[in-house]
Amino acid sequence: MRFSRSLATVSDEAVCAEGSAAISHDWTSRREKVIVLGSGWGGYIFSRRLSNKQYDCTVVSPRSYFVFTPLLTDTAAGKLDFSSIVEPMRDRRSRTDYIQAAAREVDFKRKTVLCEATVVKSGVTESPRVEESERQFEEGPDTGKFRGQQHLRKWEVGQMFEIPYDKLVIAVGCVSETFKTPGVRENAFFFKDIGDSKRVKRRVRETFELAVLPNTDEEMQRNLLHFAIVGGGPTGTELAATLRDFICDDMEQLYPAVKGKAKISLYDIAPTVLSMFDKSLSQYAMETMKKEGIDIKTSHHVESLRWGLPNTPGPHEMDPKGCLTLRTKEEGDVGIGMCVWATGNAMNKFVKYSLDTVDEFPSSSAVIEGAGKDNNRASPEEGKWKVKKAPKIGALLVDGHFRLQLENDKGQTAVLQDVFAIGDNAMPETGAPPATAQATSQEAKWLADRFNKRDFDKVPGFSFHNMGSLAYIGSSNALMQIPHEETPAGSGKRRNPYLPEGLTGRTAWLVWKLAYLSMGMSWRSRSRILFRWIINRLFGSDVSRF
Ligand code: FAD
Repeated sequence: MRFSRSLATVSDEAVCAEGSAAISHDWTSRREKVIVLGSGWGGYIFSRRLSNKQYDCTVVSPRSYFVFTPLLTDTAAGKLDFSSIVEPMRDRRSRTDYIQAAAREVDFKRKTVLCEATVVKSGVTESPRVEESERQFEEGPDTGKFRGQQHLRKWEVGQMFEIPYDKLVIAVGCVSETFKTPGVRENAFFFKDIGDSKRVKRRVRETFELAVLPNTDEEMQRNLLHFAIVGGGPTGTELAATLRDFICDDMEQLYPAVKGKAKISLYDIAPTVLSMFDKSLSQYAMETMKKEGIDIKTSHHVESLRWGLPNTPGPHEMDPKGCLTLRTKEEGDVGIGMCVWATGNAMNKFVKYSLDTVDEFPSSSAVIEGAGKDNNRASPEEGKWKVKKAPKIGALLVDGHFRLQLENDKGQTAVLQDVFAIGDNAMPETGAPPATAQATSQEAKWLADRFNKRDFDKVPGFSFHNMGSLAYIGSSNALMQIPHEETPAGSGKRRNPYLPEGLTGRTAWLVWKLAYLSMGMSWRSRSRILFRWIINRLFGSDVSRF
């Protein structure tokens, strides 16, 4: 593959693209080079578990830290510090190398990844904020298939370089799905990373300050203090519940002039929230949250989001001093102070566009299924090869051992022996586990164990072990669904036969707290979280606005 801009190939000479400075990675190591794309649940856990005696591992990610996502909502409500839920990629105890960059393209034949450094790029800790059609200009390199950097300031264009791999693990996660709803990508807040949580934290405090200004009228106060959360899955529901606690327990005490005026609405197109839980548990969640004062607006279709007052003619320009308007099919225009969009996953641009057609068939590492002994010689008649993806969702359709697959227009499939995909961006053909941290961490550990034991061909494919689901629903109440499925299927033996189907209320909340405390990635973060929870009981949440 050729690139129009001068690129550095990080080879034995280890030369950077600009400035020709040598970089410190040990590219001459005789250990196999494993490149991991992404520092989330998949990439972080895989890289930390991989044997550094056998492998020379480098993580490439625009984000220089791992985020413990289940506790992200607590940071938005000032109940935890941002630093308590992150683990830096550069860690004294870790032998894994790290490069702060985003992968832009992969050449399966030459076994290289084209990367763009993101060290000084703004916004890498937030979800992308431009429309799908513009995204290629915002993220892409000015080389290769996705030319154009017009929307970036010049200094934000990162240095481009290539890095070679022996084995590649793709764990770049997902972005938020907006269903192309007008105004959402530009005006909503997303909720996936530290930058997103910071924006939510800041905006909630901002709306209260705006609401108590002497010249803010009653109608504007109610609009500003109306917080809309779209998406009744675990993220949206937990965020609604946590913000409700924060507003009732902390903000209303500090802003008595607007006491009783704040409102949280949770929107979903489905007739219920937390639909992945049993019906009785999701019903319990809805009733409890309604009692807490959260407006549950199920079976609602959001049509648009814009700045400005409801039912006013345009043009509507962004003005954070005022409110936004959310339009639904059922209610028309509603004034709000903030909209957090948490409706599910879509593939990011790298998976969607870069991991697509294959310029040259990687004969040395791809095995064509059912093609006999000389199976890795692709002839021109086999047509164009592209990366195999799940229909509609577009996730990378891997085999049971997380190996990336290619397919051609003749219906043939080839399995790459050196490229793997795990986490939210991947879907095993043998049975897709849910897109959760629980499933991703199991996948990462399983794959690292296969690398370490080198027993790929001896073990059956990955299978997900459901440990149950938890969700916080406010006022120190939670839900827990305990798994009771038959294992093995059809055996008549149920898991956890002596435990109830689910737990609710305070007991589930205690399990929720203990579970997330114990799942913390280090003693440092566990002790910081525990300490903050104790401090909150004594002094309340952090209400500062930076
Ligand atoms: P991510 O963790 O999203 O990591 C993706 C990584 O790839 C990031 O580091 C990103 O910077 C990097 N990246 C992106 N593009 C590139 C590129 N081009 N090149 C290199 N790197 C790139 N699951 C549960 O099981 N329980 C919960 O309680 C729970 N709570 C959640 C709460 C919130 C607020 C959210 C957002 C999610 C929650 N989840 C939960 C889901 C869970 O976080 C995801 O399923 C999990 O993060 C998926 O892991 P991943 O490694 O696939 O992706």
